[in-house]
Amino acid sequence: MLHLLSKRHNRRSATVSQALKRVTTLLVVSAVTLASCVTTGPGGKKSFLLIGTGEEVAIGAQMNIQIQTESQMLADSVWQNYITDIGNRIVAVSDRRELEYQFAVIESDQINAFALPGGYIYFYTGLLKLMDNEAQLAAVMSHEISHVVARHGMKRMQTALIANYGYSFVFGNSGSSKLRDAAAGIGLSLVFAGYSRSAEAEADRYGIGYMRLAGYNPQGAVGMFGHLAEAGASSSNVFEKLTAGHPDTQSRISNAKKQIAAMGELKGDLKFNREVYQRMKSRLPVSDTTATK
Ligand SMILES: [Zn+2]
Repeated sequence: MLHLLSKRHNRRSATVSQALKRVTTLLVVSAVTLASCVTTGPGGKKSFLLIGTGEEVAIGAQMNIQIQTESQMLADSVWQNYITDIGNRIVAVSDRRELEYQFAVIESDQINAFALPGGYIYFYTGLLKLMDNEAQLAAVMSHEISHVVARHGMKRMQTALIANYGYSFVFGNSGSSKLRDAAAGIGLSLVFAGYSRSAEAEADRYGIGYMRLAGYNPQGAVGMFGHLAEAGASSSNVFEKLTAGHPDTQSRISNAKKQIAAMGELKGDLKFNREVYQRMKSRLPVSDTTATK
């Protein structure tokens, strides 16, 4: 969602890309044989993907090892269980339930969250501290799960691989290490450089539907966007695209409101879970000593 463009993450991306090189090489060779049409959204929406789930999970697992190694992970089993429970509840109503999703918290004041291919979803404590209630956290969670459902990262990787494959074919350099490096270099940007505006809109839309199906009040999404916009106005170390006054932020907020209005009367016991969230928030470390890690 909330894109990672700091120097720190650029460095991390470079390391991740090295780890991915072998996987990427494998993909260049095998992608053509794995083409399939898969469900990538609500209502049976389909997309044509060259990269199968097995390869996607392999890529995500490699990246996950790097993130776990290089980040200060929050060592709190209560938070781990809490976030896993919220994640699983949303996955259960999503359009991609077959993955083994993993949820984790990174100790860092950065206000951010992201999803790796294969269903690895991370939250920064800086973002958790900004939220007021569980529904707002569920909105971020639903948005990130939606990126995985819609294969936004994998579609970008697919485009990069096709470009590389075509280039190498045209210039007769297929299989050269130089071109494989170029493919890895293109591939690394897709998780860490952010998605397109239309991909973000899609994840917003799917996410609001999923959170409601999971029993959360979708107004949590509006509250979440509001907090992120405020934070973006007072800090440069936030996320790329959600800054106050940026037309895109305002359109995301108004789109969320329109989507919720179109749901009509919100029936059932749709939760905000403010009290439980406030208790959980009080467990988070007070100061972050890893922001510059
Ligand atoms: Zn997003």
